[in-house]
Amino acid sequence: MANSKYTYVRDFELPDPLLPGTFMLFRLDGHSFHRFSDMHEFKKPNDIRALQLMDHAAKDVMTEYPDIVLAFGESDEFSFLLRKSTSLYNRRQSKIVSTLTSLFTSSYVFHWPEYFPNYPLKYPPSFDGRIVLYPTEKHVRDYFAWRQADTHINNLYNTTFWALIQGGDKHEILFSRFAINYNRLDARFRKGSVLFRTETTLTHYTTEAMPPESIPEATPTTGVVTPVSLESSKAKSKSKGSTEKSKQKQKQPQTKIEIIHCDIIQDDFWNERPWILD
Ligand code: ATP
Ligand code: ATP
Ligand code: MG
Ligand code: MG
Ligand code: MG
Ligand code: MG
Ligand code: MG
Repeated sequence: MANSKYTYVRDFELPDPLLPGTFMLFRLDGHSFHRFSDMHEFKKPNDIRALQLMDHAAKDVMTEYPDIVLAFGESDEFSFLLRKSTSLYNRRQSKIVSTLTSLFTSSYVFHWPEYFPNYPLKYPPSFDGRIVLYPTEKHVRDYFAWRQADTHINNLYNTTFWALIQGGDKHEILFSRFAINYNRLDARFRKGSVLFRTETTLTHYTTEAMPPESIPEATPTTGVVTPVSLESSKAKSKSKGSTEKSKQKQKQPQTKIEIIHCDIIQDDFWNERPWILD
């Protein structure tokens, strides 16, 4: 076909591979959410429905992409850590950034009515996305510490600001009531959201006969139990399906994504979950 005389334009499309063997940190952030939150009457300083919707969208992204090992969210942003060995889309930068940003955005819109019933969207929200590469575990730890410290600083500022706007006696609010109660605020507001896969998913069971519950935790692997690493889990772990169907699906590891609101600046979170930085 005469088409061939046009195909040279394809050569202008340059490859954009991300350096192998490095941690990929993907972050997205709501576009002009100051305005978006005003237009949709988010409660100030922290609208819990909006935060839960962000968590939901993040969980959908993690479910679709098993190479995401950790996610952290606050305000209108979410960060996702991809294992350093990931070969997702051959590590093509724009493919990864655009696809993940798009999935998050569509999930946010898709699930909006569950969190804001009887409050239709006034216009389509959007998110920007970027990837930063980090060479070492220390960089990754420091990255998440940076984001969680930001959560704290913003929440402290916003809580004080809105207390002053909405409250009566400023001095009383600032120096007595507010100072004392800050640590009793919902941990979600102070710490943000942390999403990760539970380690129990590292083991799955291939026998037809023996249900997992009947195998004691300490039983050595005798050929009955086959541990499978998350690495191989191209599996879309849609674990919500019927139990009958999932009998056959037991060849694929069942992953569970947990959402908690805890400290990730100190060592405990990481020491208890060494697989995250594997
Ligand atoms: P940009 O497009 O540059 O990101 P932006 O307006 O989104 O601009 P951000 O720095 O991302 O600016 O701040 C997001 C803003 O969205 C917050 O300052 C806050 O006003 C609002 N916001 C986001 N989530 C919530 C929430 N759950 N509850 C209340 N307000 C929120
Ligand atoms: P990739 O994720 O790499 O883009 P892809 O499956 O989306 O993979 P494309 O090359 O983008 O591959 O092709 C999109 C495909 O979607 C088309 O080949 C066609 O099969 C289907 N498709 C898209 N739009 C339509 C449409 N309007 N009607 C019928 N089929 C469509
Ligand atoms: Mg911003
Ligand atoms: Mg924003
Ligand atoms: Mg933001
Ligand atoms: Mg196409
Ligand atoms: Mg396509």
